[in-house]
Amino acid sequence: MKKAVAYLMPFMEADKTAGDRQTNGKILMATVKGDVHDIGKNIVSVVLQCNNYDVIDLGVMVPAEKILQTAKAEHVDIIGLSGLITPSLDEMVHIAKEMQRQGFTIPLMIGGATTSRAHTAVKIEPNYSSGATVYVTDASRAVGVASNLLSADAKPTYLANLRTEYAEVRERHLGKEQKAQQHPIANARANRFIGQTHAPIKPTFLGIKTITDVNLNTLAEFIDWSPFFQTWELSGSYPKIFADPVIGDEAKRVFNDAQAMLAHIIAENWLGARAVVGFFAANSDGDDVVLYSDDERLTVIETLHHLRQQTVKAPGRPNYCLADFIAPINSGINDYLGAFAVTTGIGIERKLAEFEQQHDDYSSIMLKALADRLAEAFAEYMHLLVRKDYWGYAESEALDNEQLIKEAYKGIRPAPGYPACPDHTEKAKLFALLNVTENTSISLTESYAMYPASAVSGWYFAHPEAQYFNVGKIEHDQLQDYAKRKGIAEEVAARWLSAHLHH
Ligand code: SAH
Repeated sequence: MKKAVAYLMPFMEADKTAGDRQTNGKILMATVKGDVHDIGKNIVSVVLQCNNYDVIDLGVMVPAEKILQTAKAEHVDIIGLSGLITPSLDEMVHIAKEMQRQGFTIPLMIGGATTSRAHTAVKIEPNYSSGATVYVTDASRAVGVASNLLSADAKPTYLANLRTEYAEVRERHLGKEQKAQQHPIANARANRFIGQTHAPIKPTFLGIKTITDVNLNTLAEFIDWSPFFQTWELSGSYPKIFADPVIGDEAKRVFNDAQAMLAHIIAENWLGARAVVGFFAANSDGDDVVLYSDDERLTVIETLHHLRQQTVKAPGRPNYCLADFIAPINSGINDYLGAFAVTTGIGIERKLAEFEQQHDDYSSIMLKALADRLAEAFAEYMHLLVRKDYWGYAESEALDNEQLIKEAYKGIRPAPGYPACPDHTEKAKLFALLNVTENTSISLTESYAMYPASAVSGWYFAHPEAQYFNVGKIEHDQLQDYAKRKGIAEEVAARWLSAHLHH
């Protein structure tokens, strides 16, 4: 469709000068400052363009000023913001406030992986009363939302209903928060997780190791295909999805296209892969994890700060903190922590530029989706190598890919910015410890998003009972304590953890 439109454009432009080309409206799309993820936004842009909307796509990492200046200069009808990582949620709130301050009245559409109706209703909409704010669940809804927002007839009722709905969402949300019982941090700590005593295995080496010679063919075997279909808004798990009476055929088609491109990616070296892993002598100190320069444990090289669940749990359920999975300093047990960063996005820009030149949005989105799959596969493959070889605490493990996807193995690899360790800024320590940028060429944006976007990083915990959890809402006492431990102002900590604080 995009290719056909590109071909027709000169004729359509000629028509426009003659005054008979009408579009449904002009929409500005952007991934906000600090964020590099744009697959969802690009799908929305294509869908809107195919439905006769003019789209001005400003790309990724777009500062608020540029979005608002362009919106004014181009007289756009709607602004659409996208983002994937949690710091982007705050950036969207900032843009809403700026729109209000600068007297905007055009609608604001919100979308992207961590955005939600609740976040839009609770945090964004109240800051932009001079215009409408709408959460767009997925790309397939974008056209319906845009046409309601720009239709003189439908708009008043649509907006009135939306405002009522969001007010209800806010009320329910606050009610839920008031009901949830929270521990003071001291009590939560008293209910920490205490595992079975186990003798930690020492990794085969301490320090870091860079991996540059991995074969993309090997990684392809570790791909978890189910999230690939989610990217294309086809819900269902692989391979069952092919039998779906409604979307089965479409799933098969997009999967076949993916296999064809994957063969090219591998044969023609479209993507470079690099990884770095490291192991460190470690002990926990309360909710912190202290890392030492070597196994003598005399010199501290870094202190990692973690957060603890404060929600009152059912009897017998602990209030988890990742530090609980590392032996305490006073236990006298020598424990270890690992870290990793992987990317399969090196050099992706060259091929993307080619596709862009050919107006081939489909291939461009497909390549990004596949690069993301390969990066997750690389993380899975490295974790396996670590368990069986580099760390070697599960040498005899024998799991197939399905079991790997279900995480049937011992140990976890929580990623900074995700629910068990939601503070993205801790990623800076991971990057410094492994010298990630020099070793892999992955860099961090001001919001701690990794570029290339097809990158994964995290910590390795080997404790046999280590598991993922969600820190959830934290109280002011923990925020204060956390800021103090980190040596940062409370307001700064509050900004990075805003999704975990009460409103
Ligand atoms: N097979 C999936 C893997 C990605 S999701 C795919 O290919 O997309 C699983 C990863 O997300 C975990 O390995 C971990 O790095 C991260 N993760 C999941 N839950 C988490 C949590 N609660 N806290 C921190 N990281 C988490």
